[in-house]
Amino acid sequence: MALPDVVGDVESGVAMETVRAPKGMNDLFEDELATWRHLERTVREVFLAYGFGEVRTPIVEEAELFVRGVGEGTDIVGKEMFIFPDRDPKAPKQLCLRPENTAGVVRAMIENGKIAADAYWKVFYLGPQFRNERPQAGRYRQFHQLGCEVVGYGEPAADVEVIASAHTILSRLGITDVALHLSSIGDAADRPRYKEALLAYLQPHEASLTDDSKRRLRTNPLRILDSKDEGDRRICADAPKPLEFLSDDARAHFDAVKAGLERLGIPYRVDPLLVRGLDYYTRTVFELIGTHGLGSQSTVIAGGRYDGLVTELGGRATPAVGYAGGVERLLLVMRALGLSVAPLAPALMLIGADQAGHGRCAELAYALRHDGLAVEVDLRGRSVKAQMRHADRAGARFTAVVGSSEIERGSVNLKNMAAGSVESVPLSAEALARAARGS
Ligand code: ATP
Ligand code: MG
Repeated sequence: MALPDVVGDVESGVAMETVRAPKGMNDLFEDELATWRHLERTVREVFLAYGFGEVRTPIVEEAELFVRGVGEGTDIVGKEMFIFPDRDPKAPKQLCLRPENTAGVVRAMIENGKIAADAYWKVFYLGPQFRNERPQAGRYRQFHQLGCEVVGYGEPAADVEVIASAHTILSRLGITDVALHLSSIGDAADRPRYKEALLAYLQPHEASLTDDSKRRLRTNPLRILDSKDEGDRRICADAPKPLEFLSDDARAHFDAVKAGLERLGIPYRVDPLLVRGLDYYTRTVFELIGTHGLGSQSTVIAGGRYDGLVTELGGRATPAVGYAGGVERLLLVMRALGLSVAPLAPALMLIGADQAGHGRCAELAYALRHDGLAVEVDLRGRSVKAQMRHADRAGARFTAVVGSSEIERGSVNLKNMAAGSVESVPLSAEALARAARGS
């Protein structure tokens, strides 16, 4: 492949045009990532406490995986995938950046022989996903999802456990203003009867629907219930609902899920208009929706049961239930609620007063950092005053000025920056660690 032309010339003095990140894809720095890490750590802790194991699948998959696993009629596959050809001349294939993780996780389980008779798996993931959507707050082209899949369990208790894990993640993060919306879309066998009733209701309204919904009348009419357009929503308010078409089995399952949630004290509201955009969903569907005004970006977690997916991808019939949550959306809610985490401030800044002091500071900092303490030290031999300013700006909890006289004396004055108090401490890594940790 030819490289693009050089867009500037350093020698001629013409400024180089800067290269920018692709639209809708964000650079992240420590001031934001401190909260990200807190979220990721919490998510991992909660999933591990619930007995889930982590899974990581490739970011690049064959496009065909999502055509089969998500469905051609969906926005994700129809409009939003980043697709590119495989360079392998012997096996030309279309590859893509994964737009979601469920299909990849199920593919990995089938491919690695994990879907055998009587196999039960509880897995979680955290990672980037890609969709070519119009970027806006809470909607990006590279975004991140946390999620889980419980595979092999058809019982309503599995749905309850999955929903409970989402609830625990939110409460552990301190996110309170999110409502659990719950419904059932029944089994695949209930769907034709329901679709027929829905079409019979919607067809007379066709002229008033949005263009997208008119198209869905032919491709995926259930998705019209999911439309974000006010006009569509008004029409759908009186449409027949999937809940009215459940088989006895699907109804009993739904009742058991509700009872299970009630037993755990997890509040929910039945939302009959809830459907998922993905074709493989059956029975339980749920969304956790923020009440903080992110508009159509307010769904932070969405999931449900997908008993049809494993066979769709070539595995033996295996029930499954799971969800995916938007990391960026959870972070927006956390920021709105004042739950952001500040970057780690150094526990101690060691300040060199002269050349011998700078050397000693470097040695002590090395030993203390080795021991896990966050220590800041000057790398440029700057003045004590400049180093003090640095300590202030970095928010160091303690400072200690080390020069030849401290080295000779074998002790140093440790200053508590907030209290302004000073304590004399032996000039050793152990003594400084003990004092800076407050033990
Ligand atoms: P939406 O209706 O908001 O487009 P979706 O139905 O496409 O969502 P899912 O495929 O179910 O979303 O993904 C689960 C979660 O991932 C969403 O609830 C949301 O929190 C997050 N998410 C989806 N798309 C994006 C995106 N482009 N940018 C950021 N987060 C996203
Ligand atoms: Mg979407």
